[in-house]
Amino acid sequence: MSDALRPLIVGAGPAGIRAAQVLVDAGLRPVVVDEAASGGGQIYRQRLVPDERTPRDLYGSEAGKATALHEAFARIRERIDYFPQTLVWNVRGKTADVADGGRTRRLDFSHLILATGATDRVLPFRGWTTPGVFTLGGAQIALKSQGCAIGEQVVFLGSGPLLYLVAWQYVKAGAQVAAVLDTAPFSAKLHLLRGLLSQLGVVMRGFRYAAQLMARGVSVHFGVEPDRIEGETQVEGIVWHERGKEHRLACNAVGYGFALRSETQLADLAGCRFIFDGRDRAWRPERDMAGRTSVPGVYIAGDGAGIAGADAAELAGERAGLALLEDTGRSVDRARIAVLERKLAAVQRFRDVLEAAFPFPGKWASSATDDVLLCRCEEITIGQVRAAVRDQGVHELNRLKALTRVGMGRCQGRMCAGAAAEILAATHGQPLEDVGRLRAQPPIKPLPLEIMVDGEAA
Ligand SMILES: Cc1cc2nc3c(=O)[nH]c(=O)nc-3n(C[C@H](O)[C@H](O)[C@H](O)COP(=O)(O)OP(=O)(O)OC[C@H]3O[C@@H](n4cnc5c(N)ncnc54)[C@H](O)[C@@H]3O)c2cc1C
Repeated sequence: MSDALRPLIVGAGPAGIRAAQVLVDAGLRPVVVDEAASGGGQIYRQRLVPDERTPRDLYGSEAGKATALHEAFARIRERIDYFPQTLVWNVRGKTADVADGGRTRRLDFSHLILATGATDRVLPFRGWTTPGVFTLGGAQIALKSQGCAIGEQVVFLGSGPLLYLVAWQYVKAGAQVAAVLDTAPFSAKLHLLRGLLSQLGVVMRGFRYAAQLMARGVSVHFGVEPDRIEGETQVEGIVWHERGKEHRLACNAVGYGFALRSETQLADLAGCRFIFDGRDRAWRPERDMAGRTSVPGVYIAGDGAGIAGADAAELAGERAGLALLEDTGRSVDRARIAVLERKLAAVQRFRDVLEAAFPFPGKWASSATDDVLLCRCEEITIGQVRAAVRDQGVHELNRLKALTRVGMGRCQGRMCAGAAAEILAATHGQPLEDVGRLRAQPPIKPLPLEIMVDGEAA
């Protein structure tokens, strides 16, 4: 057993914090890096500037869990090396390149726990780049961290539990929600009844959000097919089809998203093997129940390894921390591990229910029109992608990137690659997994050039 262990945890969300806690309890001193200003991750994000809102105002029914996680992090702060507002932009071997403020430097590690979470899954449609359109997560971040709404009359659109949650949070905060447009049919929600036995509290909370939205006069529409967002310099309205009829509603902001996608680039750069996850319609790093990847010493926990939610992220972080201890010859509590794995398995079963209740809009790829911008960084339309696919016989995503520049811009495919894969697969009528996935390239997010030069020279 080596005392020179230097575990690096990327991400101070529920998964990262719980992993750090396990390591600290075992006498280790992990390094924790997060690009956010404070711990908590996406769901338990903290305010940028203190205001009068209570944890209950910010996190609703999850206030207890948020406070517990923040307190757990505060308790271990002196026993970890914590670097907030620091981006890990590359991993090579046992070294991570990190950037904070005006410089980049290297952090050596003995073990790596990736707890990088997820972001919204975006599917483009006409008008989605109009000022005033946000992702659901972006709309929520504005509310949680800055206490402001994305507009005076907001429409929320998409599929996934976050759709109702964010709409409810806006209403509760006093914002005017013009409508909730759910792309799934109402009948899909009946699948939630299957989750009543295993996750009664979660299901009831979802029903309560929907009921309270309707009680406050928010019109909720199901089976919606988005057509376009109107407005030139600012959102003015949204048009959709529902049971064959066109509808229009005036609004000045739209929050939309279709569930989440895992942040997997660092796992890719670390050399982890990926597998296709049909439920998430995405490639994700392969890992066992404990979070071990195909690369010895590299672990993944939380939404970065497939979407499972915040409770699962805490459990998975704890489990990954224990796996690291086991792998370095430390004794661990087998009974604790058995409980964690049983709970994680139950969450995975419930995820099947959620996916059925909030399905991916299967018709999107065939119905999206050619004029829609697919890759906003490089300004490439769906029509240009379809033409390249047909005319140049492209069958694979990296080839599509090379020929069209889709995914080559600032977002490095984090926003557009999923949609591009859907279009590519639908154009040829081939299974989604057959088109592959974009290979990650460092830096995984944009960095100022002078930082790179200084860093290399240092
Ligand atoms: C925008 C958004 C809002 C959400 N809101 C809710 C909600 O209200 N309720 C709910 O139940 N679920 C919500 N979810 C889902 C929920 O947040 C997740 O299930 C849960 O937070 C997963 O925990 P995690 O620790 O895996 O990741 P996260 O909580 O996402 O934490 C990951 C952390 O890693 C950091 N990170 C990522 N990459 C890097 C990098 N390269 N370098 C440095 N740091 C990095 C991020 O800054 C982040 O703090 C939301 C998800 C998103 C994306």
